Order: sequence, then C-alpha cells, then structure tokens
Amino acid sequence: MKIYNTLTKKLDDFVPIRDNKVGFYMCGMTVQDRPHLGHLRTFTTGDIVRRYLIYKGYEVTYVTNFTDIDDKIIQKSHDLGIDWRKIGETYIEEFFKVTDEINIMRADYYPRATQFIQEIIEAVEILVDKGFAYVTGGDVWFDVRKKKDYGKLSGKKLEDLMEGARVEPSPNKKFPMDFSVWKAWKEGEPYWWSPWGKGRPGWHIECSVMSTHYLGQPFDIHGGAQDLIFPHHENEIAQSEAIRGTEYVRYWLHGGFVNIKGEKMSKSKGLFFAAQEVLKEYGANPVRLYFLQTHYRSPIDFSAERLTESQKAWERISNFLEKVPEGNGKETDFSFAGEYLKRFEEAMDEDFNTPRAVAVIFDMVKQGNALLDKEPEKAAEIGRVLRTILNILGFKPEKKERAGIEDDLVSIIVEVRQKMRQEKKFEIADWIRDQLKNLGVILEDTPQGTKWKIK
Ligand SMILES: [Zn+2]
Repeated sequence: MKIYNTLTKKLDDFVPIRDNKVGFYMCGMTVQDRPHLGHLRTFTTGDIVRRYLIYKGYEVTYVTNFTDIDDKIIQKSHDLGIDWRKIGETYIEEFFKVTDEINIMRADYYPRATQFIQEIIEAVEILVDKGFAYVTGGDVWFDVRKKKDYGKLSGKKLEDLMEGARVEPSPNKKFPMDFSVWKAWKEGEPYWWSPWGKGRPGWHIECSVMSTHYLGQPFDIHGGAQDLIFPHHENEIAQSEAIRGTEYVRYWLHGGFVNIKGEKMSKSKGLFFAAQEVLKEYGANPVRLYFLQTHYRSPIDFSAERLTESQKAWERISNFLEKVPEGNGKETDFSFAGEYLKRFEEAMDEDFNTPRAVAVIFDMVKQGNALLDKEPEKAAEIGRVLRTILNILGFKPEKKERAGIEDDLVSIIVEVRQKMRQEKKFEIADWIRDQLKNLGVILEDTPQGTKWKIK
C-alpha cells in the first residue's frame, strides 16, 4: 500500500511504526464558525483513509482536535458579547452535526487545546531550557534558526519562506520567521498562568502536544488540508523534534481544497458553502460520492451541476441494490464478483485512488443490472461485493423512504384514539396509547389536541 508523503514528496510504501498499530492525527477545526464544504471534504478524506486502513487489518487510533482558544474566537466573543467558551461549544456541536450526517466515524479522542494547557506549558519550558525558544516580555518564541532542517516539510529554505510569507509582526522577535509558542496576555483576553506570566498557547504547539499525548512520538500519519503544510505543520515538526529529539511523524497526508471559481473556499473571503446546507440539499451519500470522484489531493471545483450528477449516480447505485437480495451476510462465494474487489483494492492501495474505486462501482452496477434477469445469482454476488465496498468507503446503508407513509399511519391511529376518547371509550384509547408506546411512539394530550413523537 502506497501513500503520497508530503515530507518525502513521493509515494511511500506504508509500513506502520509499531506492528499493525497505526496512530493517525487529523488537524481539526478552530471552532469559530460552522464547517463549510472544504472542511467537510478534509474530514471525509481522513475518514476514508482510516476506514480503508481498518479494512486492511490495521488497528487505528484516530485523534482529531478542536482549537477552542484563538484570536478569531476571542474576536467573535467580543463582537457578539458571548463568552468565548460558549462559542467553542456551539461550533463543536455544529461540527458533530455535519460529520455524523455524512457518516464520518467518531474519532477515538477529541482533545481540546484548553484541556492541555499544563502539558503545553511543560513543552514550552523544555523548548526554552534546550535553547530552541526564547522569552521576550511575556511572549515565548520558537527560534527557527536553531532547527537546522526547518522547512523540510514545505521543501523550502528559510530565505524562500520569508518571501511572501505572512509573518507575525512583533518588535520582540529576533528573526522574522520565529513563531509564537506562548502568547502574552492582552487586556480583555482569557488567560492562564505560566512561568512567563498570564497568557495563552500559540496554535502550533497545541497540535504538537495533543497528538503525541495520545499517539506517542514518532507516530504514523498526520493529516490536514494543504494550507496547513506551512506554517502550521512545518512548525509542529520543528517543535516536536526539538522537544523530544526524535522524528515526529512518518507520513504527512494533505488534502486538496474545494474551490469556488478557482479560489479556495474560505469563510474569510466570503466564498463558502455551509456543509450543513449542502448535505441537506443533496444528501449525505451523494456528497460523499462527489468528494470521492476526485482524488483527495486534487482540488475540486464547487459545482451544483456535478453535485446533481452525483445525486443521480447515487440513485443508480441504490436502485440496483434495491433489486438484488441482501443475502444473509454469510455468503463467502465471491468467485464471480471477487475480481471487482481486487480492482477496488488495487485502486485504493495506490494512494487511495478513489476515482478509480468509484469507476469499479459503476462497472459493477452496470454489469449487475444486465445480469439481474438472466443470471440473478451472479447479480446477487455483485450486490454483496458492492455493499462491502460501499461500507468500506463509508456510505450509509439506505432504506428507501416510503414517502412518509409511517407518519400518516400514526396520525390516523392518533385520530382514531381521539374519537374514542370523545366517546369516552377510555379503555381502548389507553390500549392504543400503550401499544404505540411499545413501538416507541409517545403521545401527549394537550389542550390543543394530541401530539406525538418518536422516542
Ligand atoms: Zn493542527
């Protein structure tokens, strides 16, 4: 199995550091706003890689963080007059809403920066003690010139990086590319006590600390969107390797953006589509399919037309699945359709080539449909392999909606019960209520009539 590694800039064979155990850290969100489609794509990529590793027999520990203290969160808190903690809570909830909806497996751990302040302070102390960081006023800066291989992830030398890079301005820094590991407190900001006075952690150090807390050092895979390569991941490497004196991460995996008219989807530029709205409009499985039809490292241009096409393509897949029997899950004969599974694995083994995997799915649907009448057994076998593949890729098993007929039936029964009560036939009315309760339908009699809900 090969993974494109940003660090080596080539396809590397994947060999876990510890037997078949894989540590996988995915940079999560700064919880200052709702996730947009670009975020959703990044986390879906992580999900697919994780699911495929699990399918290949690896034991994966998956960690995604929340950056819950940051300039933008503080700014928003001031603008709206809402406690900064409340802002984080709100968008963490939003994050789970959309990631659950598109069937992203929950991570094993969701550390938040503010839960790791003590460990972060200890890490910064080590950096200062070892001479990799220096203190000016209440700020602590990482001295990039002390880390001889700084720039190895982005593949740039310090001089090149300085050109065009957004450098944090500060008169206290020794060198323009030095970055903050601890920020001195400013009036009106939340703070924690540290050996350097009141302050809060820099962004990069949070991920260094939280990732190795759960996964050790070195660990196997670190992922994120491409815009995190520099400076975020470059700085994580510099700090973590300086702290422990060992390699930090073996494989660096970076996903492409969702673009709008060639520009990266971004809240700050006002170019974005909220993930929740897109999921609502097109459905979770079609959106997942839309992502998979492009390789994870390539950009996707947002296109309503292509989303509609993915919707139709998903319909073809689920229509076929509806026609073939599901089987009892114990069938082991894949002598006919096993070839498809092999092709699927070959595609995925080559740096998670999901467009090729999706092409295999379409081939299966086409052949499966053609065989439905003539050779239903073979069609059923294709159906079984197809379900396996869809499951590996994280699609949700779907039951066709029967146009809300269940809702209508419950409403009729509730009305019948209402009539019984009006005629004082309470015994039957109560019996109906109890029977419905057994099915998980809860009735509530109010002055405006009877309401019901599914438990
Ligand atoms: Zn991070």
